[in-house]
Amino acid sequence: MPLVINDEYPKKLFREDGKRLDGRDKTELRPIKMEVGVVKNADGSAYLEWGNNKIFAAVYGPRDVHPHHLARPDKGILRVFYRMTTFSVFERKRPAPGRREKEISMIISDCLEPVLFLELYPGTSFEVFIEVIDADGGTRCASTTVAALALADAGVPMKSLVTSVACGKIDGELVVDLSGIEDKAGEADLPCAMTWFNNELSLLQFDGDMTLEEIDSSLDLATEALKKIYDMQVTALKKKYLDIQEGTAQPESNENGGEE
Ligand code: ADP
Repeated sequence: MPLVINDEYPKKLFREDGKRLDGRDKTELRPIKMEVGVVKNADGSAYLEWGNNKIFAAVYGPRDVHPHHLARPDKGILRVFYRMTTFSVFERKRPAPGRREKEISMIISDCLEPVLFLELYPGTSFEVFIEVIDADGGTRCASTTVAALALADAGVPMKSLVTSVACGKIDGELVVDLSGIEDKAGEADLPCAMTWFNNELSLLQFDGDMTLEEIDSSLDLATEALKKIYDMQVTALKKKYLDIQEGTAQPESNENGGEE
């Protein structure tokens, strides 16, 4: 069932029992599943299910820059392509990348760049392709989180992972990890991302109405949530190597279809 039809949002975003419409407490994240190494043709990749969001990220690089004029002689460049599939939302989305996708691609690139050593790769590019298969609020945060995992899976040297989540205000209450309905019908949305090597925010956006105190409290809530998501990222990265160690990893096929 689609989650929102014709923009008819519920009047209340909390149930009688004080839970959110999807049964969560105010500080509870949606269920999250992560896996790395899911796209065999990429240098690194990851897949994330976060609530109803389903997102793939694939990384290529360092490699030659096309078009060549974008190459920089002093450092490598990071190019992020965030896209939503035509079937990722209730109404068919036009396939051409719109302004929103270009903006989100730029934001994710800005979030990730601080953790990379681009100065070590002059004249080359790292490209991160993000495909949102199913979207239900918070895709920029989920995409940033899965893109960082794919970069790590590619073996790209990084100062740390990057993790992202949105906090917000619905029916006057501060909550963590807004769903699509909460994002649209709520009062405020505050996506943020953390670079763990310096514990700084590399993303802070804001949309809606909040007092300064509420923004402070939201950032405290976000920090707790970010730590939980970070632990999941580390577990997903380790799992690939534990599976190899225990011999339970899927064998990779070579170009002739045989096992390597
Ligand atoms: P984010 O996904 O980061 O929260 P937005 O706030 O722009 O970004 O979008 C909120 C949600 O609105 C998305 O997650 C998606 O479910 C929905 N959405 C975004 N773009 C479209 C679109 N073109 N058509 C229908 N729904 C959309």
